[in-house]
Amino acid sequence: MERVMAFDTTFTAENRAPNTPGGQRFDNEIGVAWTVNMLQEVKSFIIQTFSLSPEKERDLISWYLEDFDGAAYSSNNEIHVSAGWLNGLAQPGDSSTLKFELQGVMYHEMTHNWQNNLGDYGGDQYFRGIIEGIATWMELAAGFGIDPKVKGGNWYDGYTNTAYFLDWIQSTKIDSFVNRLNQRMGLLQWNNDFFLQITGTDVDTLWSEYQASF
Ligand SMILES: [Zn+2]
Repeated sequence: MERVMAFDTTFTAENRAPNTPGGQRFDNEIGVAWTVNMLQEVKSFIIQTFSLSPEKERDLISWYLEDFDGAAYSSNNEIHVSAGWLNGLAQPGDSSTLKFELQGVMYHEMTHNWQNNLGDYGGDQYFRGIIEGIATWMELAAGFGIDPKVKGGNWYDGYTNTAYFLDWIQSTKIDSFVNRLNQRMGLLQWNNDFFLQITGTDVDTLWSEYQASF
């Protein structure tokens, strides 16, 4: 399912917190050039994973290291990363772990820029769970560590719980499941029956089977 990379994206990165401990670490151990290159690499993985049309085009993504409480978030064509959060990702001087952890979270944030999202994020907990689950699944699929798999919860919890469920469907039911799901999310408003339409089994039954697999 290869496809030609039709669209180029320009990435910019800026340290807006140079006087904080995290900002100083960014300058000393990471740097703008590495960050821009890393973001291109992450984008390549994401658009290869989302190879089925419709595809999204992004001309520009601006990345900012800033001084705020929290970890990282995406907004329009911007990615914001907390300097304090970055500083806590690895022991002082362990720049390889620092870069690895940062890159892992960028799969989640960048997925939000390329994933299809016809649905009501604020009002539909199922849609919101899938949006966040796919973003964390991308991190898992790329080989970066996410929190361990645990039994229980709901398929629409989002993040780790949903990510492992999606991965289980893809490995046991149908290949390229997440790609197929993302395609549908660009053609039609979110519907829980997307699971049934793609796999032949409804989502509650899939979740029960998945829970029984632990
Ligand atoms: Zn997210």
